[in-house]
Amino acid sequence: MKKFLLMALCVPALSNLSWAQTADKCGYNFIHAAAIKRNPNFDAEHATMTQEAIKNASLTGAKLTTTTTLTVPVVFHIVLDSDYLKLMDPATISDRVNSQIAVLNEDYNKGNADSTKIPTVFKTRYGNPAIRFGLAKVDPHGNPTPGWEVIVTTKNGFELNNDDPGANAKHVDSGGADAWDVTKYINVWITNFLVNGSPSTTIGLTIMPSYTVGAGAYPKDEMGVMLRYDAWGRRSSSTENFFANIDQGRTLTHEMGHYFEMIHIWGDDGGQCPGSGGTDDGMADTPPQADATYGCPTFPVTDACSKSVDTGIMFMNYMDYTNDACMYMFTNDQANAMHGELLPTGESYSLTQHPELLAVPDVPAISTSNLSIYPNPTTGKINLTFAPAPKDLEAISVVNILGQKVWEKSINQQQISIINIDLSGMTKGIYFVECQYSKGKEVRKILLQ
Ligand SMILES: [Zn+2]
Repeated sequence: MKKFLLMALCVPALSNLSWAQTADKCGYNFIHAAAIKRNPNFDAEHATMTQEAIKNASLTGAKLTTTTTLTVPVVFHIVLDSDYLKLMDPATISDRVNSQIAVLNEDYNKGNADSTKIPTVFKTRYGNPAIRFGLAKVDPHGNPTPGWEVIVTTKNGFELNNDDPGANAKHVDSGGADAWDVTKYINVWITNFLVNGSPSTTIGLTIMPSYTVGAGAYPKDEMGVMLRYDAWGRRSSSTENFFANIDQGRTLTHEMGHYFEMIHIWGDDGGQCPGSGGTDDGMADTPPQADATYGCPTFPVTDACSKSVDTGIMFMNYMDYTNDACMYMFTNDQANAMHGELLPTGESYSLTQHPELLAVPDVPAISTSNLSIYPNPTTGKINLTFAPAPKDLEAISVVNILGQKVWEKSINQQQISIINIDLSGMTKGIYFVECQYSKGKEVRKILLQ
């Protein structure tokens, strides 16, 4: 895989020479190398993955002309230390999440405005995967969720160059966030990557369903996508912090392609060509291609595998490595293969079977007359008094504005009438006291001054 640096303009006002790095793009190589290390026959045993995708592409084409769009629930786990969280500006997280979902829904439904740039020769190959993505509205406990959570970790990043790349970000006990049931949600972790302990220019990484079965497989609860903290969402202002040329949300479009079992358009075969030792991507309607494309070339581009100068390589395909602004299509075969993963015979079918996770849950209203919180605003200590003491109170927690639990106590339906909570020393601002009853949750806002 090519890796190089581009020199950026120096900033005269600061007399400061800075370097803009080119994204190493997707960390598929890390995922693949670790799997081979665990099982040298991993490729041979997983050839069925590509074969299955090709079969889907050829078999589902006719069905897709009348297909109904399928919707899958998505949850974002933002796992960063406080320094990286500041770099991303916590106040913009909700906007980033929403912009990212919008990009996915455009790109997976032929709704992307930049499709006008598709070269004439490729226009009839512009495919519609007909997959919609919805932010989860219900968490695994049945409670309402915005579809994202922030976990402030003490780790400054998660290592990719090991036997299970990035895995520590996916488990609470190693400083990360546990996956939500992978048969119901697509889990996306936003974090910082390290390679040999140093920050990495890898911007995305995916464990696809087929990599969680068979010898050498990854654990099921690690299935999903990981994205670098500055390589997701769509830019809405020039001051937002994004990786160079990666600000249109296309990293997740690419990684979601892997999640639906797409491989890179050049086949990850070290520059070889189909028919002479190479594998290519198995899709009949993507031109043969030797290797990854970086930057933003001008069409047409040919390489060692090009058979026709009329088409050249399809560097504007989402499964290549071009800049966000320079990739804008899946092909019909890719679209059909991915859609096939969500049909009853596909590996991700179960994701389509939980529409209830996409609707705001009907949490029964709880009488608030018997709870008082004082003082509010507070400088630290608060008292919760219940009169009368409830019989079905299960737990009380205090949650900050980012949705993180900062205090928690299990009640287990003991009849308690007074609870003292000390928030002294915590960051000043708005918090929420959440009382979880057996039949629902009561939330009160408090201000720490
Ligand atoms: Zn990739």
